[in-house]
Amino acid sequence: MKSNMKSPMKSFDVIVLGSGASGLVTALSLADQCQVAILCKEGLSEGSTLYAQGGIAAVQSQEDSLHSHIEDTLIAGAGLCDVDAVKFTVEHAKSAIDWLIEKGVSFTREDKPFHSEAPWPYHLTQEGGHSKRRIIHAEDATGQSVAKTLNQLARQHPNIHIFEYHIGVDLILQDHRCVGLYALDEKNNHIESFQAKAVMLATGGASRVYLYTSNPAVSSGDGIAMAYRAGAKVANLEFNQFHPTCLYHPQARSFLITEAMRGEGALLKLPNGERFMPKFDARAELAPRDIVARAIDHEMKRLGLDHVYLDISHQSPEFIKSHFPMIYQRCLEYGFDLTKGPIPVVPAAHYTCGGVMVNCHGQTNIPGLYASGEVTYTGLHGANRMASNSLAECLVYALSASRHISQTLSQIPPPSAPLKPWDDSRVGDIDELILITNNWDEIRRLMWNYVGIVRSDKRLARAMARIQVLKREIQEFYGHCRLTKDLIELRNLVLVAELMVESAMRRKESRGLHYTLDYPESSDEFLSPTILANDFS
Ligand SMILES: Cc1cc2nc3c(=O)[nH]c(=O)nc-3n(C[C@H](O)[C@H](O)[C@H](O)COP(=O)(O)OP(=O)(O)OC[C@H]3O[C@@H](n4cnc5c(N)ncnc54)[C@H](O)[C@@H]3O)c2cc1C
Repeated sequence: MKSNMKSPMKSFDVIVLGSGASGLVTALSLADQCQVAILCKEGLSEGSTLYAQGGIAAVQSQEDSLHSHIEDTLIAGAGLCDVDAVKFTVEHAKSAIDWLIEKGVSFTREDKPFHSEAPWPYHLTQEGGHSKRRIIHAEDATGQSVAKTLNQLARQHPNIHIFEYHIGVDLILQDHRCVGLYALDEKNNHIESFQAKAVMLATGGASRVYLYTSNPAVSSGDGIAMAYRAGAKVANLEFNQFHPTCLYHPQARSFLITEAMRGEGALLKLPNGERFMPKFDARAELAPRDIVARAIDHEMKRLGLDHVYLDISHQSPEFIKSHFPMIYQRCLEYGFDLTKGPIPVVPAAHYTCGGVMVNCHGQTNIPGLYASGEVTYTGLHGANRMASNSLAECLVYALSASRHISQTLSQIPPPSAPLKPWDDSRVGDIDELILITNNWDEIRRLMWNYVGIVRSDKRLARAMARIQVLKREIQEFYGHCRLTKDLIELRNLVLVAELMVESAMRRKESRGLHYTLDYPESSDEFLSPTILANDFS
């Protein structure tokens, strides 16, 4: 810890780090009763929540049942789900959606135009792994609808204090209790101390640790790294979900091409026009997400390709434009005409299944520290996440953590001593930014090549050796340079990369999203989560 006597200190009842679905639901649930600060790395709306397309899973019709949703989730999780967490989430998902509806979030209604005021029923879709229609959605932009409404409410609430472009650096502990955090105010370029009785981590996932990702830039695993450094337990970080098809283009790295396109006949091809999926799976392009991603990865590695191709141009232009209007338009902007030929695609890191361990109240093992959303490991996803269960998890855990915080807040004593101010009196500015950018690139590339869709003992060992060198270099910067957003993220990224590799090395089997050439089968020896804890806590 570095100190700077000039650092101001801000005090609130609750600090929420992150403004996606988890952060905003927490803040709005608590704000009528106490003073809440929301800190976010960029603008209030930026985060994976904004980009969610498909929808939110919950049992919402007579044809469906809690039992069926629980079973589907357990099957997808490949033996590693925590059954209590699955039951808890599924049982509370519908009331969490009701909460959103009460707050004014618009969802698509059955046979009615979007935004119509007609009562239930809402239109429900079905997605991979779900045996029933149970996904409530707002056209194909559910995240936008959720983010827009909750952002507006948060901005209007007198007890919610919003700090945009404030980047959490480290948690502050006193007597083993979390009492606040340090954050970089990026616009004014100084570190501030924030004090609170409870801190909620809602920082999203860590998919940016990989070269290709469908996630926005904020997903650099900051919350996982901050919590781990402070002594929180993390679990199952070997399980990263890869989406098979993102557009390959320097400016479009995070643009997802929906699976529905393969559902409507799009074919995956090599540069010579040859199809390759039939040799991997009888279902060819319609095989599950992880099988398609693994096949693409195999062909790219075998032939040394940067990407493969997705081709739907055999369908009529009218069909393509009416089924995929948004994707057709976006591809045109990047110079690709879906109606005329194939488009280049790569798999991309999409979802971090593991994270900070929490119980059903969103509590971590550090008193005063809560977490919700993609930053967490609740036990819901096990070895693989089922589509649209993630937003349900965000809502359910944010609401339950808020209930717990509101019930206990009055009993929490103020910190026993003033927070230590941040000290940057002995550091200088970074003089060679290239060293930072090169480390960034190296981590993301080595994670992609060695710790990606297909692993092996040799690849993991190679990755770990490089990560240790990079970690030392980055620690050197961190000790001597004034903090910037890039440096904060880089320090977190290298730690999360190390935790992912360590977790992958411990799991000597293949299960769900973790596939290794050295242990291609699942083993009953590994039927528990991979838990890591910081020895220095
Ligand atoms: C393209 C795409 C489509 C998806 N579609 C679906 C779907 O249809 N259904 C579904 O259930 N799930 C979907 N997901 C997954 C789902 O959107 C996410 O898991 C979920 O939105 C995560 O919400 P969150 O609140 O945990 O984090 P996010 O929404 O990612 O928000 C993270 C917040 O933390 C802030 N933050 C991060 N680090 C710091 C820091 N150091 N300091 C301050 N603030 C910080 C960010 O600025 C941001 O405000 C999709 C994801 C993507 C990328």
